[in-house]
Amino acid sequence: MADPSPTASNAPSDTIFGRILRGEIPCDPVHSDELCLAFRDVNPQAPVHVLVIPRQPLVNLADASDDDAPLLGHLLRVAAKVAAAEGLSGWRTVINNGAGAGQTVFHLHVHVIGGRPLAWPPG
Ligand code: AMP
Repeated sequence: MADPSPTASNAPSDTIFGRILRGEIPCDPVHSDELCLAFRDVNPQAPVHVLVIPRQPLVNLADASDDDAPLLGHLLRVAAKVAAAEGLSGWRTVINNGAGAGQTVFHLHVHVIGGRPLAWPPG
């Protein structure tokens, strides 16, 4: 079945994360640099639940290109630094790609989840 998720060519021109990046709506930031912003999820699924987002409006991993590889690596390095700063030892990163996988905001984001036991496999 075709995935109805937006792609770069038909994505909404803006998302709630775009508005956060522009400072139009508030967030609870834990990291900021020239490439990305990390902030606490408004509906946390664990004691620590942070989202790491690129400043560049990539829709999701499927929308990224080989040229984005350094940026994608940076997002993962920031995820690890956030986890360490939060005092986590066991933690999980999640990147939902497409509506069928639970992606609801079509601006790439890395979930950093921890602070409680995490079951496997995920739902
Ligand atoms: P996903 O379902 O993978 O697209 O994840 C989107 C995440 O964004 C969800 O965990 C939401 O709780 C979170 N979220 C939505 N709006 C906000 C917001 N304004 N501030 C922080 N997190 C948000």
